[in-house]
Amino acid sequence: MTSTVYATINLAAVKHNLAKVREYAPNSKIMAVIKANGYGHGLLQIANALQGIDGIAVARVDEAVLLRKAKVKCRITVLEGFVCEPELNELIQYKLDSVVHSIGQLDILEKYSEQKPVSTWLKLDSGMNRLGFTPDEFVSAYQRLQRCPNVKQPVSLMTHFSSADDKNSDVTKQQIKIFNQLVSSYLGEKSIANSAGIIAWPDSLSDWVRPGIMLYGVSPFYEYHGVGLGLQPVMSLHTRLISVKMIKPGDAVGYSGTWVCSKETRLGVVAIGYGDGYPRAAKSGTPVLVNGKRVPLVGRVSMDIITVDLSSQPDSKPGDKVTLWGDGLAIEEIAAAADTIPYTILCGVTQRVRLENVTA
Ligand SMILES: *Cc1c(COP(=O)(O)O)cnc(C)c1O
Repeated sequence: MTSTVYATINLAAVKHNLAKVREYAPNSKIMAVIKANGYGHGLLQIANALQGIDGIAVARVDEAVLLRKAKVKCRITVLEGFVCEPELNELIQYKLDSVVHSIGQLDILEKYSEQKPVSTWLKLDSGMNRLGFTPDEFVSAYQRLQRCPNVKQPVSLMTHFSSADDKNSDVTKQQIKIFNQLVSSYLGEKSIANSAGIIAWPDSLSDWVRPGIMLYGVSPFYEYHGVGLGLQPVMSLHTRLISVKMIKPGDAVGYSGTWVCSKETRLGVVAIGYGDGYPRAAKSGTPVLVNGKRVPLVGRVSMDIITVDLSSQPDSKPGDKVTLWGDGLAIEEIAAAADTIPYTILCGVTQRVRLENVTA
């Protein structure tokens, strides 16, 4: 059965992007971040494309268990760790590494009675004020982990950037400094950099790097597209034109009639909408490729449909191929037109969209 809307997932591009990470961080091990269904690209497909990777990171225990059940053997880190003993049990049972970021987790580890030590990454909150121990708490948290018989030694050490996508950020310099000061005398492996760190902050390339968005060929920076950074887009979203019609001056198109036609216009109706994950906030003027050529979106995005101005394409007809992002049209551009970031768009592709693996 063919489905109207499909996303091609280019696994060769994943490998290319991974090679780029190696170029940027030649002396670091790589922990590929594939949380949220591999940023919407398919958890297991992306894991399989990353054969030979040093490690994988996901946000939650259930994501990691899916990987183990699919026979993924490499080191897997659960970035949010555990919040209760049953979850710690699962981490141990499936040989998963846990981030330890809170006093509550230390208490659970110390009370734990099974004698099967767990691998941990102790997380420093170097300024994001989300997960992690503050600099004041960090040394004592480290000592508690070091003394805990349920914890493998040495403990690994990590922190996470809040503002690395801003190349001039003093915050990032400060975060690197605080982390290095606190962990320099510790034996364990260290990790700081996300994609923006890998590309823009060479001082943050420590033992392990944690690329996410760049593996999917997308830039973490507002000012650049992935292609300009030597990356290749992995996902391309496609559908087709389902109707073409002429509309008259004064005709209002779509819900609430937000776009009104000023001259006679060839209007295309395209089978894609927010029910597929196309962002509803995309404004009139957002580029869409029809038969590989740019045309502007007009009117509101609805659940199953968008409308485009086909004035520049007099030969287009129902059934013609439409591309929403990916090959030939940067998702970064769509995100900007929808006042969002590529991450949310990729994660928002819905189950109605068939993911089709390609290798070229
Ligand atoms: C999501 C995440 C990453 C990857 O971030 P990108 O910006 O996608 O490279 C790295 N580290 C942590 C802790 C994360 O949560």
